[in-house]
Amino acid sequence: MSRVYNFAPGPAALPLPALERAAKELVEYGGAGMSVMEMSHRSKMYLEIFDRVKSRFNKLMGVPDGYTTLMLQGGATAQFAAVPLNLLGENGSAAYVNSGNFARGAMNEAGKYGVISVAGDSSDDGYTRIPIVDTDKLDGRAYLHITTNNTVYGTRWPSLPDSPIPLVADMSSNILSERYDVTRFGAIYAGAQKNIGPAGLTIVIVRDELLGRARRDCPLIMNWKAQADGGSMLNTPPCYAIYMAGLCLDWLDEQGGVAGIESVNVEKARTLYETIDESKLFANPVKPSDRSRMNVVFTTGDADKDDAFCKAAAKAGLVNLKGHRVVGGMRASIYNAMPLEGVRALTAFMKKFEREN
Ligand SMILES: *Cc1c(COP(=O)(O)O)cnc(C)c1O
Repeated sequence: MSRVYNFAPGPAALPLPALERAAKELVEYGGAGMSVMEMSHRSKMYLEIFDRVKSRFNKLMGVPDGYTTLMLQGGATAQFAAVPLNLLGENGSAAYVNSGNFARGAMNEAGKYGVISVAGDSSDDGYTRIPIVDTDKLDGRAYLHITTNNTVYGTRWPSLPDSPIPLVADMSSNILSERYDVTRFGAIYAGAQKNIGPAGLTIVIVRDELLGRARRDCPLIMNWKAQADGGSMLNTPPCYAIYMAGLCLDWLDEQGGVAGIESVNVEKARTLYETIDESKLFANPVKPSDRSRMNVVFTTGDADKDDAFCKAAAKAGLVNLKGHRVVGGMRASIYNAMPLEGVRALTAFMKKFEREN
């Protein structure tokens, strides 16, 4: 077996023990005579898997009483529409912070259903910082939407904004990577394929008192209250992705849970930014206080050199370092499953590349 260090932004690297366990159980699970992929989602054995994954997630995330966790399909992108459809009301308005391309995507989608006020915007600075929230823009709005980690531009909210209205967060690229106080949020959503498990599963955490406010035209499948009442099973859930996420969460639990992995993540990010800051070849454009711990962007400032770096890195077993097409350069996505050794291998390679170029 030969595995590379995979710095892909999502779908992303998964913990090896989770993959190995899945391989062992692929053809037959727990004496059932069949694979998890072949089970009815209503069967006793599958419901046990489903419930265990949900409680393990709730425990790791610290989801308190008074909140409901949904396990759905559709990705974070489906929630870009579901959030306004569930929270805006018939003639509502909401505040959005435009901090990157996914934040803008969420904002544009919500604009189809209501009036959007932009409570912060860093597009003029090329999204290299987290905007300051203009609290005057929050009056009378149904909620404030933020993106806790901006996957493409490599920024992260260093602290949450104080919001008098429900705070709604797209946490796709840093959920479970650091501790968050769920009670600060009205709702949190995340596609699984960065920090939870494989693609196909989307998690929504919503404060119970916000359930039951959906607009009349909200599609049933996107209606959080209906999904809560139906146990996230209004239709077939992403059964296998949920099972796989469970194996990844078991692994996370063994790492000391979110607090345990957070200290590893802090060290990984520190190691990589230190190498960039000490280098004369590579640079990171992000305001230092707002740097992401999950997606580290860097560039030589020369597209051909960046390209040569990515190609040489791939030959050395460090793959998927090419930056997002809208920003170019490099991006190392170092989610939970990327070990510190992977980051050390990358920084050693960067130093070697700099010496030789
Ligand atoms: C990847 C990502 C998305 C898109 O997620 P899908 O599950 O593919 O819809 C949205 N928001 C953020 C912050 C992301 O990183």
